[in-house]
Amino acid sequence: MNQLSLVRRSPVIRAWPRQGQAAGPRSVCPEFLTGKRVIGFSIVVGLVAGVCELALQDARRRLIDGTALGALHLNQHAWWMVPLSDALILGVLGISAAVVARVFRARWPLAIGVAGICFAAAFSLLLVYRGLSNLAYATLALGLALQAAPGAIWLVRGRRRMARGGLAAMVCAGVVLSLLPGGRETTRVQAIEPARPGAPNVLLIVLDTVRAQSLNLGRGGRPTSPRLEALARQGTRFRQARTPAAWTLPAHAAMFTGRWAFELSTRLDQPLDDRQPTVAEYLTQHGYETAGFVANTMFGSTFFGLDRGFEHYEDVAITPVEFFRSSLLGRFLLKACLPGLAERDRPTSYFYRKDADEMNRDVLTWLDHRERERPFFAFLNYFDAHDPYIPPEGAPARFGPGPRDDHDVETLRDWHRIDKTRQSKRILRLARDRYEECVAAVDSEVGELLDELDQRGLLDQTVVIVTSDHGELIGEHGLFGHGQSLHSQVTRVPLLLVAPGRAPVGRIVTQPVSLTDLPATIVDLVGIENQSPFPGRSLARFWEPDSIKGGDEPMVLSETVDEEESDQPSLMPSRSLIMEGKVYLRGKDGLEQMYDLSGDPREKHDLTTNPRWAALLKRFREAMRRVDERALAEATAPTIAGNQTP
Ligand SMILES: [Zn+2]
Repeated sequence: MNQLSLVRRSPVIRAWPRQGQAAGPRSVCPEFLTGKRVIGFSIVVGLVAGVCELALQDARRRLIDGTALGALHLNQHAWWMVPLSDALILGVLGISAAVVARVFRARWPLAIGVAGICFAAAFSLLLVYRGLSNLAYATLALGLALQAAPGAIWLVRGRRRMARGGLAAMVCAGVVLSLLPGGRETTRVQAIEPARPGAPNVLLIVLDTVRAQSLNLGRGGRPTSPRLEALARQGTRFRQARTPAAWTLPAHAAMFTGRWAFELSTRLDQPLDDRQPTVAEYLTQHGYETAGFVANTMFGSTFFGLDRGFEHYEDVAITPVEFFRSSLLGRFLLKACLPGLAERDRPTSYFYRKDADEMNRDVLTWLDHRERERPFFAFLNYFDAHDPYIPPEGAPARFGPGPRDDHDVETLRDWHRIDKTRQSKRILRLARDRYEECVAAVDSEVGELLDELDQRGLLDQTVVIVTSDHGELIGEHGLFGHGQSLHSQVTRVPLLLVAPGRAPVGRIVTQPVSLTDLPATIVDLVGIENQSPFPGRSLARFWEPDSIKGGDEPMVLSETVDEEESDQPSLMPSRSLIMEGKVYLRGKDGLEQMYDLSGDPREKHDLTTNPRWAALLKRFREAMRRVDERALAEATAPTIAGNQTP
């Protein structure tokens, strides 16, 4: 049956009054069709469509494809934002129909309105299935709407019937949601003891995607980080800090738990489960007031489990635009009608990115309204240096000549999807310049936040840790972005630790350290005397210059995690290890590289073929074999406990 005959045979068309025929009982414009009822109908259908959209997205996430774009967009506010967003959009349709009906003193606009509302609801649900053309979505939605409209009009007839129908549909969707397997439940953490008197606050700042190489900490060059440099002078700087994972989720999870990425559940489609304690959980239990603020609202969202243990967690922004675009229909309309509103997003973005200014406002609002009796632990993730490399509007252009024309601007905006290997040297230079402008902008914002803390008299009693989850490649080694490679541009991250009276001032630590040591360090610095549940060792071991002798240092490991989907656990993933002043990289294809840490920081001279280092290469292979064995045992071990997602 083709679409036209489907339309002709639709009950709505068959019920439509023919020319000269009075509107009878089968007419679509019966007496009971009033403007008020159509508006009520539009709101009920919007709410039902929103709940059904949530149920479909969640079912898809849990049963089919955990990394589906719409499913990734689910956040802690989705349960109310999505239905209200749909109700608002469909409500506008209902109001419009009522207004037109009143202007023309006719009821036909109301009948068309009901059909339009059915069409929009069907369209919004079809959007869950991605990949069709707009015409295909519209044709299918039209077919569904024409079939549904008579039933819809029947519903409109009685307000109670309409309310009951809407409620029943929402309850059904809720039951389906609750029956689906694999939900992540957040358990509230209770304090088991009050904080120690005089315990310091802890501020953990993660500058997402900021590589150590692009900061001017302790070296000449571009002034990308004057504020962090000033901060570093007040505390201890780690020159060879390494992230345990090459992308956001496992890197943050490792920083929170002190575990290696291979020990954690975090994957592209899997959140952090609750097998290992997090530093937020531990501090909440020990009387701290804990809060997390993430600008990376995708992998930082509650959906991915990084909120565990925090009493207060802000991921997605609650703004009118974000509210409107929380539903698939809202996002579709925004993109189609007002693309300018989504300008700061990546063109294919499905998540909102907060800028540093907004982050600071959120953090300060929380600080000003929190309980003052308890010390706080605040975790902040700034996302401004992540691509696209577009500095905030009005930021002065300090590095390089800037974009030459609109084409340059478009290239930067589309950075994540263009073929970067085909770009000219000028464009690569432009990208690096813009990236470092973004780094400078976030440095300035962090400085402003610290000023605000200082004005409130908080800095003297606060341990400030600044680091990054991973760096970025912008053409070095012919590579781009992060997540797929373990070169120093990705793994070497800034790490500053300022702890008045607790950590040395002006100390520079040159030994390699891993961010997996952060939980043990925080517990040590705040002086909780209970046994720390975190692996790793406190970085306080570096406070005495000659305290570290070679040989007993923990492993410094980095992993790509999820580099390529594979159901063969024996397939070698990419890992890198640091030992004896060298870094060893082993790719998933088995390709090995080895570089000198201090003499070749940009990793340009591979030492694997140099016979002088053959014995060290052998030791690296042996160490890596042990890591592989541990990781394989972890991957094949039966699940112990906790909420496991499929
Ligand atoms: Zn990241």
